[in-house]
Amino acid sequence: MESLKIYYRSSPHLETEHVESLLLKFSQRRLAHFFPEYTLKFTKLSATESDNTIFEQEKPEQIIIVTSLTNPLLDASLLRQMIKIAREKPVKIEARGAVPGTIPHVVCQAAAFKKTQPSYFAYSTLQRRYNSQLNLGRLRRLKLFRSLLIKFDHLHSMSIEEILDFFSGKEGTEFVLAYGEQVQLEYLQACPLCESISFSPVYADVSQPLTGFLTRFSEYYFLCHDCGLVFVNPRMPESELWRYYDRYSYDSAWTSETLKTHYEHLNHLNTSHYYNYVAALPYIRQLPPNASVIDLGGGDGEFTVFLRKQFQDFHITLWDYRILPLIEKGLAPWNIHIKQSDFLNEPFGKNALDLVTNWEVIEHLPLGKLEAYFKKIYDALKTGGMYLFSTPDFHNPYCHALDFWAITPGEHLSVLSRKVLEPLLTRCGFQIIGEHHECVSMKTKDRWYSYGMENNSFMASRAEALIINDFLRDETFLHSHLDWLRQRNLGSELILCCQK
Ligand SMILES: [Zn+2]
Repeated sequence: MESLKIYYRSSPHLETEHVESLLLKFSQRRLAHFFPEYTLKFTKLSATESDNTIFEQEKPEQIIIVTSLTNPLLDASLLRQMIKIAREKPVKIEARGAVPGTIPHVVCQAAAFKKTQPSYFAYSTLQRRYNSQLNLGRLRRLKLFRSLLIKFDHLHSMSIEEILDFFSGKEGTEFVLAYGEQVQLEYLQACPLCESISFSPVYADVSQPLTGFLTRFSEYYFLCHDCGLVFVNPRMPESELWRYYDRYSYDSAWTSETLKTHYEHLNHLNTSHYYNYVAALPYIRQLPPNASVIDLGGGDGEFTVFLRKQFQDFHITLWDYRILPLIEKGLAPWNIHIKQSDFLNEPFGKNALDLVTNWEVIEHLPLGKLEAYFKKIYDALKTGGMYLFSTPDFHNPYCHALDFWAITPGEHLSVLSRKVLEPLLTRCGFQIIGEHHECVSMKTKDRWYSYGMENNSFMASRAEALIINDFLRDETFLHSHLDWLRQRNLGSELILCCQK
């Protein structure tokens, strides 16, 4: 019987989660199911070993598969095609057009691995057809995969099409929105803001939400034709929303040392919304000395540290549902007060604050409570006090690029815009005194668009992402384009300054 030698790499988060053996067993079962004609031998590649030396121990014509444990759902028919080419040609074979997370890095004869000639490609049309993401490189996808193993005990024998057909339908979409948990989701029959029944689905056709698994056919966001709101449907009931904020949602793991260094060196490259804070500075400079500030939902405390660096005399509080002890300790030297509780449902006091900030938070809040929440902030501010916030702006083309607007369905209950927000804010008494935009996806090279050039669904769109990334690699172009965007109020993020 002929053999296939499968060499796999692991990943630090798989070790931390203790899922390496689970994923290995699954991969063994899947390949044994689809390739019964081969004996299979799995070997782990360590991070330090040079691949070439390992493969030199193999017979020159031995077929080797180099893959990753983050890709347990290998596409068997594409892999079969790659093996067939490897048997016929002494070349390295890679795949193009496959759904991310369903292909090995390379298939080849052992002797061909160290050859420097360009790879030979095996082509798939599945990413074009489905537009999905099955790589378990993120914790939340790992969590969904584990729930999927429980749901389908024959998952190892399902084809990629069968799996993605499930996620394209109602049940699979619910599965992802419920975060793989047993929760009854709520279906909305009308827009949760204006009660219009005139709404239609909007689809992520080109790039993929962080959650993975969903496809271009999955229906989870709807655009209200009357008020312009984009809302998730079905949605997690309010009492269950905490489920989205478990440890699987946070890929970054600070240590007290790395956090200390991070706070000392905050900049636009290491802090997602740094430029939003910069855009807010001219308004904050108008506040009186010793101003009282609350940053609501400020998570890791980056904005409060940014603010402290500019304003030594401010009284600054970070208020969030959950503040890790490590963050609390890290913020202590910066003289930031901590409050940990449900700010949505707790009183804020009256006429006491000079500034309330809310960076990338309101899209996470239940829409039925948004107006009352704004009113509560309005009441808590002194006359002349300001409410500054940012949120992804659905009605801006830069938010549509790379399907940025659909980045976290479920967690983001809505995708907002000034058109949607202004009536609510005005009814509460606020006056909008400033509108700005910043663009997360354009602010740096080799990040958002390099993801797009690998994973976008269409060949043309992958090429467009590559071209944009090439432009961003030119520092002069990058910074002049960001200024160009600021002058024209364009970008994925809407920043509004509202005054009482
Ligand atoms: Zn509406």
